[in-house]
Amino acid sequence: MRIGLIDVDSRLPNLALMKISSYYKINGCTVEFVQTGKKYDMIYASTIFTRSKSDCLKLIDYYGDLIEIGGTGWDINKRLPDEIDAVNPDYDLYTADMIAPRINGISTKQRKIEKATEIVNAGIGFTSRGCIRNCPFCFVPIKEGKFRNVAEIKDLINPRSNVLILHDNNITADPYCIDKLHEIKDRRLIVDINQGCDVRLMTDEIAQALSEVKHLRSLHYAWDLMGFEEQVLSGISTLSKYIKNYRHMCFMLVGFNTTFEEDFYRFKKLDELGIRPYVMRYNEKHDDVRLNHFARWVNSFIHKAVPDFEDYEPWKKVKDSYNSQLSMFEGVR
Ligand code: SF4
Repeated sequence: MRIGLIDVDSRLPNLALMKISSYYKINGCTVEFVQTGKKYDMIYASTIFTRSKSDCLKLIDYYGDLIEIGGTGWDINKRLPDEIDAVNPDYDLYTADMIAPRINGISTKQRKIEKATEIVNAGIGFTSRGCIRNCPFCFVPIKEGKFRNVAEIKDLINPRSNVLILHDNNITADPYCIDKLHEIKDRRLIVDINQGCDVRLMTDEIAQALSEVKHLRSLHYAWDLMGFEEQVLSGISTLSKYIKNYRHMCFMLVGFNTTFEEDFYRFKKLDELGIRPYVMRYNEKHDDVRLNHFARWVNSFIHKAVPDFEDYEPWKKVKDSYNSQLSMFEGVR
């Protein structure tokens, strides 16, 4: 049997496709990413982002019954069958050349290849699924259910490297959080806690254990809703005792239920603390022009060169054109 795979939009190697690949290879099938002109007995596609739904519909139009689509961007209730979920991912599926073009930022081609090589050689997976919380904007509680442990750190190591990309949704809520961090340290792994940590649950013990492991990139967490200001700032203050603020990154959800003033307030607060803020638009929606400019101004560090958002040229142009349209209307009246 020949199995075709399509990775619609993942930025990192797609764990579900890697497991599907392993499963079918174990069962004697040929597995590869779909190539034009080749025939397949079955095709699996995976999508992370809901904005890719129209691409998925085109795939269904083209492949009909031959294709099965999964992933958060397609159907949050769909899960891998247990027998597929149980196998180790196929670490031979992706190459650095496939991942490099998906790395955002202004690095050189060479640097992107180096980063991509690090990523494809890394161990990748979950030691826990689900979450203890029920944030109204998040798909995890619906998709994964209650928090539970599913694997150990040792199960996720890729013998090719000491880098581990951990997809756990809420590592700080894990009763074994400190044990896992100690294991990461003892095994001399370099970890990317990919989904961030829940800074509201930060304790001195967790912060110290986090500070003792090597991180692949900055340690990140989120401040999504205004109601959590006190808990978030208190968690940051605990974490800051052990890890300097310039090594933190804080995601700020915008366009969900906060006003622009509240978005700006969070940005200011984090910036004053020396923490890198990163604006995340709810559901990747790009229909609010001011938020789009705000996200670019914050995320691309333009605020360092142009400290007043109102002076940021692309946003100024939008305002000027709006004001001139307004004055034309006033002239008509
Ligand atoms: S803590 Fe994070 S993973 Fe858990 S429900 Fe909230 S946003 Fe989702």
